[in-house]
Amino acid sequence: MPELPEVEVVRRGLESWVTGRTVASAEVLHPRAVRRHEEGPADFAGRLAGRVVARPKRRGKYMWLPLLPEGADYVPEGEAGGPGAEPTEAMLAHLGMSGQLLVGEPDRERHKHLRVRLTFTDGGSDLRFVDQRTFGHLLVADVVPSRVGDLVPAPVAHIAPDPLEDAFDEEAFFAALKRRRTGIKRALLDQSLISGVGNIYADEALWQAKLHWARPTETMTRAEASRVLAAAQEVMAAALGVGGTSFDALYVNVNGESGYFERSLEAYGRRDEPCSRCGTPIRRDEFMNRSSYSCPKCQPRPRRARY
Ligand SMILES: [Zn+2]
Repeated sequence: MPELPEVEVVRRGLESWVTGRTVASAEVLHPRAVRRHEEGPADFAGRLAGRVVARPKRRGKYMWLPLLPEGADYVPEGEAGGPGAEPTEAMLAHLGMSGQLLVGEPDRERHKHLRVRLTFTDGGSDLRFVDQRTFGHLLVADVVPSRVGDLVPAPVAHIAPDPLEDAFDEEAFFAALKRRRTGIKRALLDQSLISGVGNIYADEALWQAKLHWARPTETMTRAEASRVLAAAQEVMAAALGVGGTSFDALYVNVNGESGYFERSLEAYGRRDEPCSRCGTPIRRDEFMNRSSYSCPKCQPRPRRARY
């Protein structure tokens, strides 16, 4: 399952290939890939044709191509001649378990799990959505102001910024932790508080911050909250650094895992292996039908716990 860093790697990879180009056509080869586009595949294709693509954006695990009106000039943010046209819609992508966005020569062979293909008016590289398990999806949605005021696709409007975004509001996050009566791991997975922190990064951040996953958020000090946020930012940035080197070629790929997972995990998936700080075997607890991995010594269970 791609987590935020993998999605960010895809976003960065796409940036140089699609920004400023005009969509010629969108071909839907499997209706399931656009099942969340309520008006159907023909409408999906119709809303993309002729649109100018602005720089790809991301929030949490959602990535999107902002769509400018037909014929608009794309002006990069912060450049002379700007600001350019505002997007009115966006093509939103959720990669699900196995979704890939691939860029390449338009006449190359078609993968058997090709679901959607976008061509561009310049006749150059096309963009393909390949998804073996079809849990991912694409849709075109209106853009609306988010809670922090930027323009995002409507289905993303309720999601809080993620900790790698400039728009992330630390004070609002700390205040929400004090208000919520929940455990810290549940809070980290709550997309309305902070987005993009999946199960793996939550466990890694809590291990690094030396906090138990069931710690009641209202009992956390400001220093503890800062520590866990900084740890989340650090592990996600480290994963980005590893994944961020592979898209020099005419190929953008996400397959759920970057090399980070094999090399650098300290807690997640390491049941009974020694903690690299203290040597105590890592424990695994049941958590929301999944698992939480932590060090019994570095992350002692709180006297009062919230599961
Ligand atoms: Zn330990």
